[in-house]
Amino acid sequence: MTELTRSVFDDVMVPNYNPQQMVPVRGEGTRVWDQDGNEFIDFAGGIAVNCVGHNHPKLVAALKEQADKLWHLSNVYTNEPALELGQKLTEATFADRVFYCNSGAEANEAAFKLARKYAFDNFGPEKNEIIAFEKAFHGRTLFTVSVGGQPKYREGFEPAPGGINHVPFNDIEALKAAISDKTCAVVMEPIQGEGGIIPADPEFAKAVRELCDEHNALLVFDEVQTGVGRTGHLYAYEGLGVTPDILSTAKALGGGFPVGAMLTTAKVAASFVMGTHGSTYGGNPLACKVASTVLDIVNTPETLDGVNAKNKLFLQGLDALNAKFEIFKEVRSAGLLIGAELVEKFHGRAGEFNKAAHANGLMMLVAGPNVLRFTPSLLVEDAEIEAGLARLEKAIEQILAAEA
Ligand SMILES: *Cc1c(COP(=O)(O)O)cnc(C)c1O
Repeated sequence: MTELTRSVFDDVMVPNYNPQQMVPVRGEGTRVWDQDGNEFIDFAGGIAVNCVGHNHPKLVAALKEQADKLWHLSNVYTNEPALELGQKLTEATFADRVFYCNSGAEANEAAFKLARKYAFDNFGPEKNEIIAFEKAFHGRTLFTVSVGGQPKYREGFEPAPGGINHVPFNDIEALKAAISDKTCAVVMEPIQGEGGIIPADPEFAKAVRELCDEHNALLVFDEVQTGVGRTGHLYAYEGLGVTPDILSTAKALGGGFPVGAMLTTAKVAASFVMGTHGSTYGGNPLACKVASTVLDIVNTPETLDGVNAKNKLFLQGLDALNAKFEIFKEVRSAGLLIGAELVEKFHGRAGEFNKAAHANGLMMLVAGPNVLRFTPSLLVEDAEIEAGLARLEKAIEQILAAEA
């Protein structure tokens, strides 16, 4: 048998990813170890997925318990974990109804299809246009890259589905000019994640809600990245004070187990009548049991208040780095969704900082070429924030030294 090293990846995998050389084998809390026993502090959290850290004992117990009971049934049957999770999600949010799937893209696919179907049922086939925002990210299926506002993700995959328009984010006049009675939905992230950690202006979000109401269009919030405690609220819409008609959630919902959900009102849900949409694995008992346990841990004042306290500590640390190195143009954040935009001089080089951080034992992320992104576990300890930022400091020192 060949050794399972990084080079095997190039032999057997489609080249759409280029992972780090080290191969992680174990995680615990905010720490990860590779095959050689090297330890990393994890500020990436699996891209805002591992919201309670690696190997959380309650998640491990929930998964093992369910593994001994029931794995899969298909949607011909329901199951206890799916019902339990549905109750928790509808009790904790604006929503009355839940649709389960396995990823963020699928949750959005369901959201966009439902928005079209609802308009079709209630207003006729002409009302089918979707308005989304430049730089938005909604997933990698053909429909979701088409609604997404980053043309590079659809290049080469055309023809894309039609009836989709993009306008600049946080520009209410542009939306006013684009929206009409043919608009069935406006789709937005409360904070653009992949686009560079760009929060929606609360005034903008309120105006979007009003324009949607004026034109009988549904407001769809993609909370795949902002959801499940990330911003210090269970969902970011609570912080904005604007309630959507449809919300997509995934990533942190399973804490590392693949699961997604679309949440909506009873009125809108009524258009997904029997047979209109589906997913073989949607509502899988293992996924729902884990997600239900994630909500028990995250949807508590301790965890959510903790996120806000850790945000402050994180920002203090980044400010201190900036005082020393003058490296950040702006730090944008909500809870533990944190983006540090590099000064112009370093624009285009976020990947280099990420690499240097990795070499110093810190896992982190970028959001585009100019922004360093941090999405650690919501349970990250204060001492780990300090230790991780100390590793980032070393990485910055090395880059600046090479520059001099
Ligand atoms: C990650 C992400 C998605 C896609 O989720 P997948 O699980 O990769 O399909 C969609 N929308 C937003 C805002 C995301 O951050």
